[in-house]
Amino acid sequence: MTIHSVLAIGCHPDDIELGCAGALLKHRASGQRTSMLVMTAGQRSRTFTGDTRLKEQQAAASILGAELFWGGFNDTEIDPGRATIDVIEHVMELVKPDVVYVHAPEDSHQDHRAIAVATVSAARRSSRILFYQTPSTTHFEPTIFIDAEENLERKIAALHPVSSATQAPSRT
Ligand SMILES: [Zn+2]
Repeated sequence: MTIHSVLAIGCHPDDIELGCAGALLKHRASGQRTSMLVMTAGQRSRTFTGDTRLKEQQAAASILGAELFWGGFNDTEIDPGRATIDVIEHVMELVKPDVVYVHAPEDSHQDHRAIAVATVSAARRSSRILFYQTPSTTHFEPTIFIDAEENLERKIAALHPVSSATQAPSRT
């Protein structure tokens, strides 16, 4: 299977970076188009302060070399129905992914469960959906492993894009 384009879908800022940043960096290094769809701005997060997380997500996308799309939903209010499926289908139309990464369906966060279900519907004609694990995943039996070691530093940088940027001058 030839891969030209991959799309990673996450509910909140950091989900994709935690779940599959190493894989995205590998796709990017192979010259494949990588895109991220982040469904909410993480408004309910303890660390949410205005547009900070929006900027951090944009910085993380730059570090990963990925194009960033926002779903525009409210944190904790994602449902697996038509509106969510429509947004995913719209972004899939734009980037035509050969592989779609999304949260594993068994998860303690309702947004994560809902997006897994909606993505399976939206990507029903897509060739491949791969689930990724995050700290709130409750059950996961992976069958595909992607070695992230060579990209580990950049994955960590993508998780802390602002502190990475502010620390950079002190290292020189
Ligand atoms: Zn999340």
